[in-house]
Amino acid sequence: MNKRKNIGSLLLDYKMITEADLDEALEFQKENGVKLGQALVQLGKVKQDEIDYILSRQVDEPFIILDDINIDTTLIRKYSSELLVNNRILPIYESDESITIVTDDPFNLKAFEKMREITKKSVNLTVSHGEKIERILKSVLSEGNKNKLVNILDKLIKDISNTSFYRLDFCGHSGVLEINIFGFNLLQNYTVLAEKYSQYQIMQALEEMDIHYFYNQYHLENGFFFQIYPLISESAKIEVPVVLGSFGLGKAEGAAFTDLDFHGSEMIFRSDLPVKGYLYYSFNSFCYYENSVNIVDNVPVNSADDAGEILYTGYIPSKCGSCDGEGCSKCNNFGYRFEKLNDNIKISDISANF
Ligand SMILES: [Zn+2]
Repeated sequence: MNKRKNIGSLLLDYKMITEADLDEALEFQKENGVKLGQALVQLGKVKQDEIDYILSRQVDEPFIILDDINIDTTLIRKYSSELLVNNRILPIYESDESITIVTDDPFNLKAFEKMREITKKSVNLTVSHGEKIERILKSVLSEGNKNKLVNILDKLIKDISNTSFYRLDFCGHSGVLEINIFGFNLLQNYTVLAEKYSQYQIMQALEEMDIHYFYNQYHLENGFFFQIYPLISESAKIEVPVVLGSFGLGKAEGAAFTDLDFHGSEMIFRSDLPVKGYLYYSFNSFCYYENSVNIVDNVPVNSADDAGEILYTGYIPSKCGSCDGEGCSKCNNFGYRFEKLNDNIKISDISANF
């Protein structure tokens, strides 16, 4: 690398700017705290493409196309976002002896020295477009972290523990995570986090909380939709046939089957049909099998006579009288209050609530 030169003198050599342009840019740089290349671009003296071109011609470091490389988000998060974003430094690979970074300014020696200090490793440079580097950094660094998610989920579980909500919906799209809760035909938004989370991060948070769950997952064009039915209550003994509506479906003793996928160490296996002699968790449609556990929202309201009486274990919602469903402190902002039920009830009684 030609360390004696900087972008300014290179552009002068190529007669792409004048001395007066350079002075103006240096002044602008001082006033606005930007880098020289950015100052020249913002003043309209040169285009970013021209700077990139000159740099790739002048320095020995390879010019790389960022679209072609794998972004290591863990590596990026190891460093201060200020150092990375302000200097447009994208760490891409690390070994025991060295770290490879992408930069748009191979003359930014101060920043590389700082990287050497922090990592105690030699720094290998590659060059690419500054705007792309910045875009990648910002998208990675704006992603949320697991601890925050664990705290939110912890509170969520407490909030809905005596309610009829039993399903959590995570919808990740456009850089936000929307968390909705569902149960007894009520769907409510719980919160929206203004950060990007991956489905994997949510699974990691649940793993850390030691929550086992049935789940459905859908890939959207611009994100994901991840629905879970957690198993929470250790003590809840399931007597079948049963309809569950309370948060935290009771855990089965021994082997069981389900028509959804399951995550956890329990003896629960996937099967689209009940297996004779075993407990069967049914989510996709109401199941008449003698050992079946149905969720309340699968009860066929239009053919109530078919099912007759069922055992319902869970909470029945009724609109909060204090706020008429708007949400207030008395109903924990849900707009509903919940009454515990563990009894045989007529399906028509349930459907009156739908
Ligand atoms: Zn209320």
